Amino acid sequence: MSNQSAVSPETLQALVDSVYADLAPRRGEGAVADYIPQLARIDPQKFGIAVATVSGEVIVVGDAREAFSIQSVSKVFTLALALGKWGDGLWKRVGREPSGTSFNSIVQLEQERGIPRNPFINAGAIVVTDLLLAGHQPREALGEILRFIRFLADDESIVVDSAVAKSETETGFRNQALANYMRAFGNLHHPVDLTLGVYFHQCALALSCAQLAKAGLFLANGGRLPKDGSVVSRERARRINALMLTCGHYDASGDFAYRVGLPGKSGVGGGILAIVPGQAAIAVWSPGLNKNGNSLLGTLALEMLAQRAGWSVFGA
Ligand code: GLU
Repeated sequence: MSNQSAVSPETLQALVDSVYADLAPRRGEGAVADYIPQLARIDPQKFGIAVATVSGEVIVVGDAREAFSIQSVSKVFTLALALGKWGDGLWKRVGREPSGTSFNSIVQLEQERGIPRNPFINAGAIVVTDLLLAGHQPREALGEILRFIRFLADDESIVVDSAVAKSETETGFRNQALANYMRAFGNLHHPVDLTLGVYFHQCALALSCAQLAKAGLFLANGGRLPKDGSVVSRERARRINALMLTCGHYDASGDFAYRVGLPGKSGVGGGILAIVPGQAAIAVWSPGLNKNGNSLLGTLALEMLAQRAGWSVFGA
């Protein structure tokens, strides 16, 4: 059972609207990620919030029905898939500790002999993708990821933005370095270009806030979708939430836990997925990032919404 306050759909809509109205004048703050050229083209004024509740409502405001590049938020879904395939054997190749370093840091990888700190930094997510590639062609592995997301969001219209994937394939030099490093340590089992091909495409999944909140809802609902049954076990959902809380925001994970108090995962496209156990999944999108690479307005929106709704995993 959850100790979160239950909030009626009408109250929730009013809260989401109030957060949006308070923050709308600040749209455009932060810096849009430009190391992936295609992401630099996004309108920094975009701002949307969606809340999917365990009782089946989806509450939206702003640009919450417009698809954006979910980037690293995809790492939550590939982790759930890979755990389904490999179980706890996955943890032989990836750790479960916060990194305290930036999302694409290579320093720790050298010191720790090619075993990434956690599945939510780039190196760790690349290993998770490598695990999903086992026994498959890249196209099949990507198909499996896409089918999983469509199933979770109950939406067959979700696609990968191939222009974003191409853009990152052409400029992902750091990720190539990370992947080559891990391959040298024996922690990448497929050719670097194949694993990265899948990784770049999974990062280029395009979802709206409404779709993303629905896709994340199983993590708020004991591993189950409200209508389609079990996705992962209750225990596994708890553990994924624990990793999101401790590792979901790179070197700002502690700050996010302090300010928002909910498990969350951010992406450089400006999206964040946050989980209110027993209640709801929240997705926010605002492309301007703070210095840690997390959505500036998105984090603020989650902080305000969690506070106004009385949501926190740290107490009522
Ligand atoms: N595709 C991005 C990268 O690997 C994801 C980073 C992020 O969203 O944090 O650089």
